[in-house]
Amino acid sequence: MASPLAKKIVIVGGGTAGWMSAAAFARLLPSECKVTLVESQQIGTVGVGEATIPHIRYFNQLLGIPERDFMRETQATYKLAIEFTGWGNASSRYMHPFSAFGADLGGVDFHHHFLTARAIGSNAALDDFSLAAQLARGNRFAPPPDEPGLGYGYAYHLDATAYASFLRRYAEARRVVRREGKVERVTTAPNDGRIAALVLESGEVIEGDLFIDCSGFRSLLLGKTLGVSFESWRQWLPCDRAVAQASEPLTPLPSYTRSRATASGWQWRIPLQHRTGNGQVYSSECISDDEACAQLQRALNSAPLSDPNFIQFEAGYRTHSWEKNCVAIGLSSGFLEPLESTSIYLIQMAIVKLVEFFPDADEHISREAFNRWMGMEYRRVRDFLVLHYHLNRRQDSDFWRYCADMNIPASLQEKIELFRESAVVQHYDQGLFAQPSWLAVYFGQGLVPLGWDSRAASVSADKVARTLHGLASQLQTMAERAPAHAEVL
Ligand code: FAD
Repeated sequence: MASPLAKKIVIVGGGTAGWMSAAAFARLLPSECKVTLVESQQIGTVGVGEATIPHIRYFNQLLGIPERDFMRETQATYKLAIEFTGWGNASSRYMHPFSAFGADLGGVDFHHHFLTARAIGSNAALDDFSLAAQLARGNRFAPPPDEPGLGYGYAYHLDATAYASFLRRYAEARRVVRREGKVERVTTAPNDGRIAALVLESGEVIEGDLFIDCSGFRSLLLGKTLGVSFESWRQWLPCDRAVAQASEPLTPLPSYTRSRATASGWQWRIPLQHRTGNGQVYSSECISDDEACAQLQRALNSAPLSDPNFIQFEAGYRTHSWEKNCVAIGLSSGFLEPLESTSIYLIQMAIVKLVEFFPDADEHISREAFNRWMGMEYRRVRDFLVLHYHLNRRQDSDFWRYCADMNIPASLQEKIELFRESAVVQHYDQGLFAQPSWLAVYFGQGLVPLGWDSRAASVSADKVARTLHGLASQLQTMAERAPAHAEVL
């Protein structure tokens, strides 16, 4: 990187987004960049966000944080998959593991052979062919084996407040300056409207070249000051409320997140070492806050440890995350509900892309590239989340009937139709979720394709049946030999 244009970087907000940004800038930007972070303890953070996807491991590696230290400091557990119960119909249950299913046979993707086997009577489930899913089912964990076709990714469940504190210590040890206080006013330059300074309640003025808005749902700089509009996706993701409550840790300790559909939304269960995170996500048009909270409390698997925390939100994003000299990272740039644990991933992507595109000559080019990238990330994640809602056959409430009948984004419609016709998973350009993730939801929620790759017929039905049976039993045996998750921790 040549000499950067922005030498004074000011971050507003000390939640997960703020401290992940500060830590990464301290490590990755040239030392001439001075980083200041302003946060207000009086305002506090959103206080949720505990499930991740495997990319967070690369973020920690980028920062040079050993896994052992990270896990101890954040009371983290391992996460191999998400279990979805009640999403296809009221009794359906499937795992979305961080892994592929089986390996190709005769050059044809595994799931086409899986379909052949089903057509001749096999009742195996797709997740019988993922070691990660089998381990998760048994509340077990083992590091991924180094054998072709058997590997998988893993992520963590973590205490988000502890993670932010951990990253704060990391960043402050690398010269990030923290200022406590509430930003009361933001001043802009009269000639071009760029942000000039923050004025704190105390009267302190903090000037900067580049401002990072990590102020959460308030979107203090990007939304309120610069007026970048919010595009709502509520018509596709109708949940707009959540209530969260912690409870005692679980025994045995699951190595997966659970997502259980309810009549007007869904409930999460996130196992940590020292507690369990629980929450109910719901549409305020279908259920009251009190009813949602009562429903969540009835479903708790262990004694409560905190009072319920109610959160309001709207699914959608700011049409561009970088405007003038301000980049929004985290909830200030948008929010897609936590169904596939993608928010921390989106924070990570924004940080990595900002560092990659960090302007040293022409800010305009970097800004355009960044905005195009982030817009694409948001829309790809959106489509995958909408798939879960749309592909339901529950018919037991207005909420689920609406989701099944709603008009979905054309990009998603096209993808579903192609799969229904031919079992082909269309490859999006560089979206987060790859073929195995789409297969998990398609099959898990009961979308059976009408046709599949005719080349699968070149492998005899007998060989397919033997191969599938052999693989499922091999994975089951491996999973049964693996240690319990709690033991590994
Ligand atoms: P916040 O945590 O809200 O932080 C905002 C910061 O800005 C605070 O420090 C606040 O004090 C500061 N601030 C605001 N205004 C001012 C001001 N005027 N002056 C000074 N400081 C100010 N993500 C996942 O990846 N996995 C999950 O499982 C997950 N679950 C979620 C469940 C729910 C119900 C919700 C709503 C979100 C969930 N998320 C999840 C998203 C996740 O919580 C956020 O992405 C993450 O916490 C980052 O939040 P943030 O830092 O952007 O905002």
